[in-house]
Amino acid sequence: MNFKGSVIFLFFCYNIGGDYMKFVYDNNEYDIIINKKRSTKNTYIRVNSDLEIVISCNSFTPNIFIKNLIKNNTNGIIKMIEVQKNKKKNNDGFFYLGNRYEIIYKDIKDIEFDDQYVYMSKDFDIDKWYKKQAKKIFLERLNYNYDKYTRKIPYPKLRIRKMTTRWGVCNIKTHYITLNLELIKRDIKYLDYVAVHELTHLVYGNHSKYFWNLVEENYPGYKKLKNDMKEFL
Ligand SMILES: [Zn+2]
Repeated sequence: MNFKGSVIFLFFCYNIGGDYMKFVYDNNEYDIIINKKRSTKNTYIRVNSDLEIVISCNSFTPNIFIKNLIKNNTNGIIKMIEVQKNKKKNNDGFFYLGNRYEIIYKDIKDIEFDDQYVYMSKDFDIDKWYKKQAKKIFLERLNYNYDKYTRKIPYPKLRIRKMTTRWGVCNIKTHYITLNLELIKRDIKYLDYVAVHELTHLVYGNHSKYFWNLVEENYPGYKKLKNDMKEFL
């Protein structure tokens, strides 16, 4: 990937009140937040959803080290900024099964759609509605993907939850598969991939090469989807 635009660092040191740095890329300024803690052993860089660059490091890490670290990881930081920007774009608006709609508030009881718009009242419980749709659609897709397995795997019990860090969870002891409610917002192919991923855990509990081979067998080309999904959650 190539990034156009210039990157400049501004590094200000204040005697009182600590340090303050900014990362400038493509004419935008991004705050750099430095979290120094005694208990942090390694140094980590991440970009949060507010597009701030957060550096976590040990209390004794000198600022010159942090400055160099940022300099040496410019491309990585720009990539993380772009991923977060796309996440923002991908979550702005009303999404259902891969389509984006503009919300128009109207005094109606239920929800109505046309090509571009979704109509609902201001107090409409969107999550409740999503969950109702998900119960039916997720089970359908789980069954559809379950039937792809040629070897015998236990029939899973489905649970649906809103999660912020994972798309799915498989409990290999109880055979519960939990799917993230957020999947209802995306194209059904992502739901299918996550269903296959979790079903495959009923065969292999880990992420070994045998695991990924079986995922590929039941969902060819999953890698591209897995990559796309980084920009959703
Ligand atoms: Zn997994």
